[in-house]
Amino acid sequence: MVTVFQIFFVLLFIMLIILFVFKPRRTEIIAWPENYQDLLQDYVGFYSNLDIEGRKRFDEMFQKFLLAVKITGANAEVEDLDRVLIGAAAVIPVYFIPDWEYVNLKEVLLYPGNFNTEFEQQGDDRLVSGMVGTGALQNVMILSKWELRQGFINSKSNRNTALHEFVHLIDKMDGTLDGIPELLLERKYVAQWQELVNATMEEIRLGASDIDAYAATSPVECFAVLAEYFFEQPALFRSSHPDLHAILQRIFVRK
Ligand SMILES: [Zn+2]
Repeated sequence: MVTVFQIFFVLLFIMLIILFVFKPRRTEIIAWPENYQDLLQDYVGFYSNLDIEGRKRFDEMFQKFLLAVKITGANAEVEDLDRVLIGAAAVIPVYFIPDWEYVNLKEVLLYPGNFNTEFEQQGDDRLVSGMVGTGALQNVMILSKWELRQGFINSKSNRNTALHEFVHLIDKMDGTLDGIPELLLERKYVAQWQELVNATMEEIRLGASDIDAYAATSPVECFAVLAEYFFEQPALFRSSHPDLHAILQRIFVRK
């Protein structure tokens, strides 16, 4: 006699086989390209200079960033390299800060080239290559794809647009975009930092500095431009500007 239990177990067995054979394939949403470590190694000096442990830490921060922030092309195709370079520019300035999160960023918009202050991609007055959004564009960063790549391709340069914009975000996260990164710099060093920034801007205006003239625009731009130089050409920055190097070390490296 076939009992109800036997029928039940046979049916259960058949169901398990069906589930096993027709197991739905998991479609994982991965925000970073498969070969991202190779691209980081090839294009990002900061990454290639890290040891194995250091890269592991970088990889974790990089993945966390790309899972949290959407990257959208606006008339530009977002290629693997763009994702990698944006992730790298986000991680580098906060690499030494434990548990950092860009809570003020949800999306990066990638434009093909420069744009103007009205975010127009056409016309003659397109001088902007990167911007941290305000108002309706709060929590959005806009980057020029062309400048994003230039910042990493040209290894002799001390400029990097994407990194510059992430430094503005760090500056802004304490509530004011004022060139003083209060979250990272201990209060007792703030006056010294302001003096150094003012002196640097003055030297640039007098034409007596190798720091990009854009830094003389305001303390906000000065901080971002100095940070670019600090991360892009660390050895040269250290020998040419020891005092600035020491205080940027306090801000970004904290040891
Ligand atoms: Zn700026």
